[in-house]
Amino acid sequence: MSDTSPHAFDDIRSAVRDLCAQFPAEYFRKVDEERGYPDAFVRALTEAGWLAALIPQEYGGSGLGLTEASVIMEEINRSGGNSGACHGQMYNMGTLLRHGSDEQKRNYLPRIASGDLRLQSMGVTEPTTGTDTTRIKTTAVRRGDRYVINGQKVWISRIQHSDLMILLARTTPLEQVTRKADGMSIFIVDLREAIGHGMAVRPIANMVNHETNELFFDNLEIPVENLIGEEGKGFRYILDGLNAERALIAAECIGDGYWFVDKVTAYAKERVVFGRPIGQNQGVQFPIARAFINVEAASLMRYEACRLFDAGQHCGTQANMAKLLAADASWEAANACLQFHGGFGFANEYDVERKFRETRLYQVAPISTNLILSYVAEHVLGLPRSF
Ligand SMILES: Cc1cc2nc3c(=O)[nH]c(=O)nc-3n(C[C@H](O)[C@H](O)[C@H](O)COP(=O)(O)OP(=O)(O)OC[C@H]3O[C@@H](n4cnc5c(N)ncnc54)[C@H](O)[C@@H]3O)c2cc1C
Repeated sequence: MSDTSPHAFDDIRSAVRDLCAQFPAEYFRKVDEERGYPDAFVRALTEAGWLAALIPQEYGGSGLGLTEASVIMEEINRSGGNSGACHGQMYNMGTLLRHGSDEQKRNYLPRIASGDLRLQSMGVTEPTTGTDTTRIKTTAVRRGDRYVINGQKVWISRIQHSDLMILLARTTPLEQVTRKADGMSIFIVDLREAIGHGMAVRPIANMVNHETNELFFDNLEIPVENLIGEEGKGFRYILDGLNAERALIAAECIGDGYWFVDKVTAYAKERVVFGRPIGQNQGVQFPIARAFINVEAASLMRYEACRLFDAGQHCGTQANMAKLLAADASWEAANACLQFHGGFGFANEYDVERKFRETRLYQVAPISTNLILSYVAEHVLGLPRSF
């Protein structure tokens, strides 16, 4: 059993903290205000090897487990940064690693590890399908040595800062499969070749500084060797990777949660109103203490999900529960932090409103809280299926 205390993995924590200290709150505030991309930060993380944590050593990565990777993400968010700018690089390659051919792995993974290639994007969500993924309408039809892609995706992140994307498309129409999860496949799309040659990108302005886009495919041709694994099994391959994504995003929420708790605790000790620090009032103390307790509890579930994943065991239930607990805890901490900063919480220079917006996203993406509840109700507790 790995150490699950907040000080576990101190060596990784302090190294990531040192790197993050070079990119203080002012840096992320400016990037947010400009709706820019934290390019220098992502480059520094890549050069230090942190984004290649999950890539095995034989492919040039550091071969760490999901547990360590989660600590890296947690520390980035705890430092005031936002892993959302680059977390895709961490987990998207897992699909390639687990289901790609030897040739694909040799071709892509070392270059992803070195930072020569960025695999930041995964295209699943569609405008008319939402969470009901098996009904996706984007199709891939084989013609000789190419697949021809047609359709549309929405909310596909980091496309403008990625060289590659993993794309989910239907290769067999829904009406022709016995199980609705069959007949979908995943592909590596080389964005440098695709954009302007059958693929168009329309950025979506949004509440957080998250580079995300609508994608349009109009007879985009990709070589058959870009199919990952077997045709028709793509949905199952994607599901494997989603557990890693959920555990890592839980860790980011935990980092956010600690950031909010630290920030509001410091403020409540020094802000004097009615002749005493506001933190002396139990009405102020209790919501902060409760949020802290929930962040700590979520952290334990995160470690459990990661432990199972690293041991090669089923971790879907724990990864989903960790994501829900962590997203709720960070949101609770965010509300306490904003509330007890009073008016100052709304001023950009305190960074509270920025982090508040950033952490709110995780109630909805990459999977909404309701869908996790439904998963636990039906798949863990055996309640009747609602859809
Ligand atoms: C900033 C951002 C970045 C994203 N990045 C990516 C990306 O890189 N790649 C990608 O593929 N996707 C991405 N997404 C999409 C994201 O995964 C989806 O938005 C999310 O899964 C919810 O899907 P939806 O928006 O289609 O909501 P819908 O499926 O339309 O659901 C809307 C709401 O209805 C509720 N709901 C729906 N069905 C049920 C039900 N059966 N029971 C109870 N409640 C229900 C849920 O509360 C849900 O929040 C991103 C989204 C955002 C906002």
